[in-house]
Amino acid sequence: MFKALVVDKDEESGKTSAAVRDIGLDDLPGGEVTVAVEYSTVNYKDGLCIGPGGGLVRKYPHVPGIDFAGTVEDSSDDRYKPGDKVVLTGWRVGEAHWGGYAQKARVKADWLVPLPEGMDSRAAMAVGTAGLTAMLAVMALEDHGLEPGHGPVLVTGAAGGVGSVATAILARLGHEVAAVTGRPEQEEYLRGLGATQIVPREDLSEVTRKPLETELWAGCVDAVAGAMLGRVLKQMKYGTSVAAIGLAGGAAIEGALITPFILRGVNLLGIDSVMQPYDNRVRAWQRIARDLPMDKLEAMVQPATLSDLPGLGKDILKGQVKGRVVVDVNA
Ligand code: NDP
Repeated sequence: MFKALVVDKDEESGKTSAAVRDIGLDDLPGGEVTVAVEYSTVNYKDGLCIGPGGGLVRKYPHVPGIDFAGTVEDSSDDRYKPGDKVVLTGWRVGEAHWGGYAQKARVKADWLVPLPEGMDSRAAMAVGTAGLTAMLAVMALEDHGLEPGHGPVLVTGAAGGVGSVATAILARLGHEVAAVTGRPEQEEYLRGLGATQIVPREDLSEVTRKPLETELWAGCVDAVAGAMLGRVLKQMKYGTSVAAIGLAGGAAIEGALITPFILRGVNLLGIDSVMQPYDNRVRAWQRIARDLPMDKLEAMVQPATLSDLPGLGKDILKGQVKGRVVVDVNA
């Protein structure tokens, strides 16, 4: 038997509850590889899945945890053998398939990637889905011409998971980083990650009727959407791009007009980390190992255990988590 955070639903009341329970290997879903999980993390989607599911959970009882890192224990696939270090993000693990909030997980071999050289499983989860997404966003901006020296790159939701890692990567690559935050008390933290400018959230929260504003930003990693993305699009420099990764501030692009696209040739790039093919995931993890300053990672980490998860799930949905929560599932 081993420990897992199990979310169950009472059919009569429709209410869900989450508790640490003992489960066995026979309870795990099908898959070619069984992994002894070492670390997992808390992401926005995990917050939804620890609670009522938000339409993400297919079947109860459920084990959330959209990413994990650990050691292969058993494999019927030639690509992996016992003792291999692996990392998993995406593929609806932790939503449609049991995830990383357990001491063991069983998944398809196609969903795993080998841990990059020189990175341990704790560091891999300090990065996690949020960090992979941040890297994919930076790579997309680079593919569309962003280079250091073009001007400040804006990061919205900067004190959150994706924003923290994006700030650190962009600063390491030599970009000026303007970090947008609603938490002024996080200024020192964000400057420590490499932000050169702090933009208060309220400066970009108002929906305006202006078709365009002064050109300010050479690129943007946007975790927030909503009214803020509408404002940011109008402030992008000519021919630049916004990598949109999330909607912590709302699903609509409020107040947005077509003008930034037509009159300034701005690109809006959608970033999805969930269904990334194997080669892209390996390339992104290798870039993370190279371009993310590992000494900055520790400042982002809040350690947690399985029993902390019900509370942390609520916190992340309220936008109250700083950086990355790393869950030691064996603590
Ligand atoms: P976090 O909760 O860690 O960070 C989100 C940050 O956004 C908060 O810390 C806060 O930053 C800011 N924020 C929260 N609410 C609001 C609001 N109402 N208005 C403006 N800013 C707000 O989440 P993650 O960084 O893990 O994820 C961010 C988003 O990206 C989520 O929507 C998530 O679902 C999505 N996501 C998408 C992925 C993909 O593949 N595309 C992968 C991973 C996540 P601050 O306090 O600094 O203002």
